[in-house]
Amino acid sequence: MPSLIFRKGLDLKQAVAGMLAENYHSAVVERIKAADFTYHAGRLTVHLAREFGFCYGVDRAVDYAYQTRERFPDRPVYLTGEIIHNPHVNEKLRSMGVRFLSDDARLIDRLDPADVVILPAFGVTVATLRELDRRGCTLIDTTCGSVLNVWKNVRRYAESGYTSVIHGKVWHEETQATASQAVEYGGRYLVVFNREETQLVCDYIRQTAAAPDRDAFMSRFGGAVSPGFDPDRDLQRIGLANQTTMLMSESLEIGEMLRAAMRDRYGDPELPERYQAFDTICSATQDRQDAVVALLRDRPLDLVVVIGGYNSSNTTNLARICAAARPTYHIADPDCLLSADEIRHRPVGAKVEVLTKGWLPRQGAIAVGLTSGASTPDNLVGAAIAKLEAFCA
Ligand code: SF4
Repeated sequence: MPSLIFRKGLDLKQAVAGMLAENYHSAVVERIKAADFTYHAGRLTVHLAREFGFCYGVDRAVDYAYQTRERFPDRPVYLTGEIIHNPHVNEKLRSMGVRFLSDDARLIDRLDPADVVILPAFGVTVATLRELDRRGCTLIDTTCGSVLNVWKNVRRYAESGYTSVIHGKVWHEETQATASQAVEYGGRYLVVFNREETQLVCDYIRQTAAAPDRDAFMSRFGGAVSPGFDPDRDLQRIGLANQTTMLMSESLEIGEMLRAAMRDRYGDPELPERYQAFDTICSATQDRQDAVVALLRDRPLDLVVVIGGYNSSNTTNLARICAAARPTYHIADPDCLLSADEIRHRPVGAKVEVLTKGWLPRQGAIAVGLTSGASTPDNLVGAAIAKLEAFCA
């Protein structure tokens, strides 16, 4: 039986609006926004970034998940994995009886037409979608329009014979879903994580003395390329795409590196035929990154707190921008603010959370910059501000 797919909600927006506001809204945050994004309490001043928190894609995905529970109270409801990278939101959905297919690999084999499956904002691979469809499940597709835009470009590359070079994290669901689109449309892909990996690819394209040989290239990128990838054949015509939540400045630089390498190898006249690029960083990611740049530039900050899941790509990139300019603490949630002396946080580039002592100045005026990732609800920002205020009292 073919799947029934809901892509535009379930006509229950009003029915769940109260619940969403109760779970994720913050009156304090609204007041601070109205007061030029600044909050004073004794010696503490909090400066909020002008864009932070839930993006339009996350807002919609969480809304649809609540609508799904409302519409199908008696049917099993599943998520393929985390709906967004925020532990609180995922736990809330679990408490509403939503189960996660990612908890047990065998679950997907037991699905049948009675089951309802929510697809997350960052999408799923073609293989997963096909399997869910084959099982006849009712699907609630919350894939964000900005992710669909990336897929559109990757499909175009595939159909025109370009290999998609994806600036992204090969382990991230969105990049895996995007890569699967390239293969589905008969194309190939290569995922590069950063400038260093891109430099290797550029060296290979130029065939410089520093270039890895074919075997070394494949041992470095073997887990980040399409099946049967041949760098000699598949790097002759390339198109750049991005995971939507990467650091904009880095994506632009990576694009320029690849363009220059293709120009050096094939010359200016052939460049348009050899290299294509479309900007696929989403506007919400861009706005949040621009807002922290402005925050760091315009406000006299002693330190910055960035709130969001440690596996949230856009949050990590906000922390990277802040850490280059001020002492920065990326926390998963307000519980990480242990006391005026201790904080649990994950430093930029580290793989694990650490405990730092003496993070908050003991005396005198203190200005804290605050932002949160696109998957962090405002109530967590409000809770963090309340803790900061208590610590500074
Ligand atoms: S970060 Fe961008 S692409 Fe991802 S869900 Fe939000 S708006 Fe969509």
